[in-house]
Amino acid sequence: MKKKLIIAIDGYSSCGKSTFARAIARELGYIYIDSGAMYRAVTLYAMRRGFISGEKLNPEGIINELNEIHIEFIYNPDLDEYETYLNSGNVESEIRGIEVSGYVSAISKIPEVRTRMVELQRQIGVYKGIVMDGRDIGTVVFPDAELKIFMTASVDVRAKRRYDELMGKGVVVDFAEIRRNIITRDITDENRDISPLRRADDAIVLDNTRMTVKEQMDWILRIIETKLNGS
Ligand code: C5P
Repeated sequence: MKKKLIIAIDGYSSCGKSTFARAIARELGYIYIDSGAMYRAVTLYAMRRGFISGEKLNPEGIINELNEIHIEFIYNPDLDEYETYLNSGNVESEIRGIEVSGYVSAISKIPEVRTRMVELQRQIGVYKGIVMDGRDIGTVVFPDAELKIFMTASVDVRAKRRYDELMGKGVVVDFAEIRRNIITRDITDENRDISPLRRADDAIVLDNTRMTVKEQMDWILRIIETKLNGS
C-alpha cells in the first residue's frame, strides 16, 4: 500500500495556508482539515450564546458547553469544497466574517478550548493521508508529522489577499481594518502562553510573498515526491 503522510502546515494569518493545503490534499487524494475553522466555529458558538459581548468574554460559559459544540466538515458537491458545520448548521461564510475574526484569537487562547480541539484534530489524523493547517499543527497536534511547512508572507501582501478574497465574495471591508486585524492576530497568536505560533524545529519555511500558487505547488510536490519515494 502506498505510504500516507501527515502534512502539517502552520503559519501566520492570511498567508494562503488553506488554499495551499487544500490544493495539496486534492493533488494527493488526502483529507484537508482547516483547524482554524474549528476555532472560528467555537467563537461563533460563543457569540451566539452571549459568552462574548463587546470586550467582555465569559470563558467559563464556553468551557461548560464545550461538549455541546459539534463541528463537522461536510462536502458540498456544487462547490467541490468541504464546508464547516456547527451543530448541524452551515456556518462556512459566517465564520469568515470580520466579527468572528476579531474574537477568534481570544477564544483560541482558552486552554480548555485548545485541549478539546487538539483531541478532535488527532482523532481525524489517526488514519493519516491528511493535510491540516493551523498554528500549532507541527508543534503540538502532530509533532511526528512526516512533513511540516511553516508559511509566511509580508503583512501588506497578506492584507491585500484577504481584502480581495472578502470583496470577491461580496463582503465589503475596509483595507486598513483587515490589515490591523492581521497584525493583532499575529501578535496574539505568537504571544499566547499555550501553543503559541512558532515554527517547529523541523519545519521547512515557505515565504510566498512573491510566489504564485503554481510555484508553491511545484515546490511542495517535489518535496513530497522525495518523502514518498525516500526512506
Ligand atoms: O487559520 P485562521 O486564520 O482561520 O485561524 C483563525 C484563528 O484561530 C487564528 O488567528 C488563531 O487564533 C486560531 N488558531 C489557533 N490554532 C490553530 C488554528 C487557528 O489558535 N491550529
